[in-house]
Amino acid sequence: MYFLQVALCSRPRTVKYRSFNHSDGLTCVVDPKMDPEIEEMVRIAESCALCRCGCCKDECPMYAELLEETISPKGRNQVIRAVVKGVVEPDGRVARIAYSCLLCRRDEMSCAAALKNADATEAFRRYLADSGVPPLPEHALLLKSIENYGNPWQESRAARKRWAKGPSDRRIVRGKTETLFYVGCTFALDRTLQETPRALSRLMERAGVDFGCLLEEELCCGSTVKRIGQSRLYDKLRAENEKALLGTGAKRLVTACAGCFKTLTQDYPGISKKIKVQHSTELLADLVSEGKLKFGRTSLKVTYHDPCHLGRHTGVYDPPRAILRSIPGLKLIEMKNSRELSRCCGGGAGVKTAYPEVAAKAALARLREAEKTGADIVVTSCPFCVQTLKAAAVQSGSRMDIVELSVFLDGLPGPDGKVVK
Ligand code: SF4
Ligand code: SF4
Repeated sequence: MYFLQVALCSRPRTVKYRSFNHSDGLTCVVDPKMDPEIEEMVRIAESCALCRCGCCKDECPMYAELLEETISPKGRNQVIRAVVKGVVEPDGRVARIAYSCLLCRRDEMSCAAALKNADATEAFRRYLADSGVPPLPEHALLLKSIENYGNPWQESRAARKRWAKGPSDRRIVRGKTETLFYVGCTFALDRTLQETPRALSRLMERAGVDFGCLLEEELCCGSTVKRIGQSRLYDKLRAENEKALLGTGAKRLVTACAGCFKTLTQDYPGISKKIKVQHSTELLADLVSEGKLKFGRTSLKVTYHDPCHLGRHTGVYDPPRAILRSIPGLKLIEMKNSRELSRCCGGGAGVKTAYPEVAAKAALARLREAEKTGADIVVTSCPFCVQTLKAAAVQSGSRMDIVELSVFLDGLPGPDGKVVK
């Protein structure tokens, strides 16, 4: 250990900090409370500065597109370090760099120092926001919508139950229903994706799962808000959600959204310690292995795209594959980059809003990889992956179909060969 001079807002003081053997007499500007995420951000930026490798860049889709040193894992860490040292002012230029990351964690698979660079970037966004740097204009509309309507899509709260119109509105009975189906903003409100909650509901009904939803009372989990560093709004959403979700008395919470799943399992300790949180792929894999869901024969060739939030962030790789492999006759063909090495679709962490062209190119690159497998369909399990890959398929005139896993399963014949739907 050695001592680093830390200027704490306007009150400089010397604090004990971890030694990184720098010779430049590091001067940091950090929050007086030095919360653990910011401390870890500094540690990551400092560790990265000692590395001469830089091989992480080869895997970064943002760097591959923009070819700017600051838009790379190492470059961004250097910017973090410069801002923390007080060499660079935290301003709009710095914010553009901070928001140029998909938080996809692909670089971390080849980082020589096994650094969690996405954690540093996410913490840096919060650091900037807490230092008074305004959100990007492209993010402002999204934040306003969440504040006003509880969703990022500028839709009324009542619109949230639209997907469920039908014989039963599937409303949860508080204190009775065992499983709460948390639909999430994008599956509930994007008309092109509403087939997923419908399909998952039908599959759960078929397997005898006792479930219900909050419908118009459901609120955004705050995933995007957290990823773009707006901690005050995120804390408010989390507190309201914890109260509402625990208030249902449900013993299990299931969601089909990879972003909601990461947030509810990793950023809501008040929920994940009290309720079993499952992604729909985990629940469906359990139902398949218990023999409660069976599918008939198909000759389809399928490839599976791992969403970053479900794969590298939360480690759910096997359940979707186990489901697909249980389908008689189905051929599952892996892409060159799959599981931990999967490439991001471009839809993550506010990049699609702030850098739409880069996001579209990342989606096209992933689609091209899927096409090379010779499969008929890309199956995936995240609303943003479906959106971005579908848009890439339409724009490029690709023959590939992009289908969310529940929708895919719901469209398969039953074991007797008849379509169940
Ligand atoms: S998380 Fe993804 S976009 Fe961000 S630096 Fe790493 S590889 Fe690049
Ligand atoms: S490999 Fe890891 S430690 Fe080395 S420059 Fe890249 S991010 Fe930094």
